[in-house]
Amino acid sequence: MNMKITRRNFVKGAGAATAVGIIGAPTLALGASKKVVVVGGGTAGATAAKYLKMADSSIDVTLIEANKNYYTCYMSNEVLGGNRTIDSIRFGYTGLAKHGVNVVNDIVIGIDAGARVVKTKGGKSFSYDRCIVAPGIDFKWESIEGYDAKVAEDIPHAWKAGSQTVTLRKQLEAMKDGGTVAICPPPNPFRCPPGPYERASQIADYLKRKKPKSKIIILDPKPKFSKMGLFVQGWKDLYGYGTADSMIDWQGTPKGSDDNVLKSVNAKTRTVTTGFNEVTADVLNVIPAQKAGKIAFAAGLTKGDWCPINLHTFESTIHKNIHVIGDASIAKGMPKSGYAANSEAKVCAASVAALLSGQEPGTPAYVNTCYSIVGKDYGISVAAVYRLAEDGSKITKVSGGLTAKDASAETRKREVQYAYSWFQNITNDIFG
Ligand SMILES: Cc1cc2nc3c(=O)[nH]c(=O)nc-3n(C[C@H](O)[C@H](O)[C@H](O)COP(=O)(O)OP(=O)(O)OC[C@H]3O[C@@H](n4cnc5c(N)ncnc54)[C@H](O)[C@@H]3O)c2cc1C
Repeated sequence: MNMKITRRNFVKGAGAATAVGIIGAPTLALGASKKVVVVGGGTAGATAAKYLKMADSSIDVTLIEANKNYYTCYMSNEVLGGNRTIDSIRFGYTGLAKHGVNVVNDIVIGIDAGARVVKTKGGKSFSYDRCIVAPGIDFKWESIEGYDAKVAEDIPHAWKAGSQTVTLRKQLEAMKDGGTVAICPPPNPFRCPPGPYERASQIADYLKRKKPKSKIIILDPKPKFSKMGLFVQGWKDLYGYGTADSMIDWQGTPKGSDDNVLKSVNAKTRTVTTGFNEVTADVLNVIPAQKAGKIAFAAGLTKGDWCPINLHTFESTIHKNIHVIGDASIAKGMPKSGYAANSEAKVCAASVAALLSGQEPGTPAYVNTCYSIVGKDYGISVAAVYRLAEDGSKITKVSGGLTAKDASAETRKREVQYAYSWFQNITNDIFG
């Protein structure tokens, strides 16, 4: 379903914060127009830019994005499974430009919080009243010996969709029947907690069809993972999990041990060494530990690996007038997911519009649903609605749930259709 977004729909969709922040606000166009610069045009940044413009068209919104096209990570695992093309997850910025967003293709290299100026690699400066920073993630390369950005071109993480997704897919296609695929998921916290396990499922779906003698080994540094019960059940139903013939072999790490904590990668032999294991694979997918995108560090917005924020407005607790949304932020209580990033962006856009007009931001509500496609006609999901805790200290789940363990085949099939429908709706919501 492609829904045309009107100001009225936006108010409904973004919840109470929007209702107070936007409807209650007089137009801002009384004086000079206010300037907002959005850094990073991924899921969070593009949503914020568009919704800010829809909230008040008099706000001068500039979105600075490093790439001409955005490849969604969501559904990129289906590309690996051979179930969709890379082109089907590519989106451009003409839709945002039509909403009046000034889209600039450049890389932000610095943010001067005092002077309120954003500087780019291309030599431009953009002043702002408020800045929204949404750079996504970066990798902690130093945590794995022998693995860095250069090696990742050959042994892809594919944790930012695009060229590495294509490389990994080609490697799977080139692998012999009877080959081994090793996946090394990252430690917590990381982008898309169910992602590595959906990836294993999608690769298994492909191998089952084309190379049934092959195996997938998951060397996990964690004792458990998101939607584990549902994934394991899916793997049993589809890939013989738990039998000697299982296509998937998940090896976790008990709390306090380093059994499958990745120590090093030998790119030449495609061998990974963990605390306990040494595995040589035909196709190796190493997903390193993560932290906020580089610009968040350069702008002094981080505490540890991520950006602390006021959960009500997403304003940085370090620098005033700068908001951080999406994976880079510490949105305590919410996962690092695309749907969460989209929801945070709407709350942030409503808050920024309110603050720029001297209004109090309203009480926010947030949502998240994560679908995972485990195999043909086999979908699972987790959904939640959240509210800000009374004292503002965390985002609290107020309702939600998982696909039932005893769901019928019909329900599982329908979950796949829901996943596709969600993908169409959210990409239209962000880029349409
Ligand atoms: C395999 C996989 C599957 C996933 N599946 C799902 C799913 O099914 N559902 C779901 O909800 N989520 C899913 N996710 C998670 C989702 O993709 C992320 O949570 C989401 O993209 C976060 O949005 P973001 O805006 O914070 O970061 P991003 O979407 O990564 O956007 C960051 C943007 O900032 C730009 N940028 C960074 N630095 C600069 C700079 N200095 N100057 C200019 N531009 C810059 C980047 O180019 C990028 O476009 C999945 C992730 C993976 C890896």
